[in-house]
Amino acid sequence: MPVDFPPAFDVVAVGAHPDDVEIAVGGTLARLAQQGYRVGIVDLTNGEPTPGSPGVDERLAESREAAKILGVHERQTLTLPNRCLFDSFSARVALARIFRLWRPRIVLGIADKTPMASPDHWQAMQITDAAVFYSRLTKWDDEFSGLPAHTIQSQLWYPLGLTNLDVLPGSSRFVTDISATLPIKLEAIRAYRTQFPAGKQRVFSWVEAQAVLLGQSACFEAGELLISAKTLGVTNLVEALCPTM
Ligand SMILES: [Zn+2]
Repeated sequence: MPVDFPPAFDVVAVGAHPDDVEIAVGGTLARLAQQGYRVGIVDLTNGEPTPGSPGVDERLAESREAAKILGVHERQTLTLPNRCLFDSFSARVALARIFRLWRPRIVLGIADKTPMASPDHWQAMQITDAAVFYSRLTKWDDEFSGLPAHTIQSQLWYPLGLTNLDVLPGSSRFVTDISATLPIKLEAIRAYRTQFPAGKQRVFSWVEAQAVLLGQSACFEAGELLISAKTLGVTNLVEALCPTM
């Protein structure tokens, strides 16, 4: 049966649970959508079961609403298991199938472990790293039902921790300007009403304070931190260092 390919995506962000992507890079994704790029989100699990939520339908409704607020073009929630997500061959192939179908230029994934939070995040990083590689491998039609190989040009990692001062490894760290989209990011996180009820409003202070700190370190009003898998190169030093706003 012929495959019905959607238009290719510029950027796809991957999270372990609905709300991971919004908390870490919601402002960047909203900005990319404003700039006319085609943006997608993949959640590896539906995040259920979790305290405070009545069930899967509510979580999916929240994640759909958050995606709409961000202005992203597509969101897919895979059926890998929450709380016991493990890097496995089948999980890697499941995500790589989405990459082959959506054909992103850039993939954003979780960076590093999140001590005292879900270990699913670390597993999601490994699954995403592997799926980026699996996406481009030829001579593997039996695993991918004939979906053609697709080479992702660039991979980025986003840190997910809000409550530590760890400096993440990686030489190519940079901050994206989310001055115009921080309110949209906060609104998208608020769409997860079951996850951030009145008793957890401090999360919004953390997110906002971190965005201001990161952004002002790069002379923006607000920002988000990303790490490039490859060293970032510069072809025009003046444009790179003194962009026209
Ligand atoms: Zn999470």
